[in-house]
Amino acid sequence: MVDLNYDFSMNQLQNRLATFKDWPFTEETGSSCTAEKMAEAGFFHSPNDRDADIARCFVCFKELEGWEPEDNPMEEHKSHSPKCEFLLLNKKEADWTVEDFLELETKRQINRMHKIIELKTKEYKELAEHVKTEMEKLV
Ligand SMILES: [Zn+2]
Repeated sequence: MVDLNYDFSMNQLQNRLATFKDWPFTEETGSSCTAEKMAEAGFFHSPNDRDADIARCFVCFKELEGWEPEDNPMEEHKSHSPKCEFLLLNKKEADWTVEDFLELETKRQINRMHKIIELKTKEYKELAEHVKTEMEKLV
């Protein structure tokens, strides 16, 4: 289960950057997929038991995995989530106005609600499927 509460502080670049402390791709190794570029592209590191390299956008909540050293995080973000409000704003965080921040935060919370509904619906469907299977065993 994705912990969406953890995402809250990820609207700040330095907080996202801090999540990439074990990230394997560095500038020293000639990689374009560095922690800095990942964080600037809106991603934070969100590994789970199955995948160690999952990164999630703090605004659209898109999760991407299977990162390669030559990946361009911003381009990957654009191709997998072209309508992300963070990308559409297209401004460095240092240049955000208060309006930009509040607007993005509003959209982010809407996206978060959609994501929660999506996850709950999936959970419910799985549970319903399980109950159905158990009931069929009784007949
Ligand atoms: Zn996004």
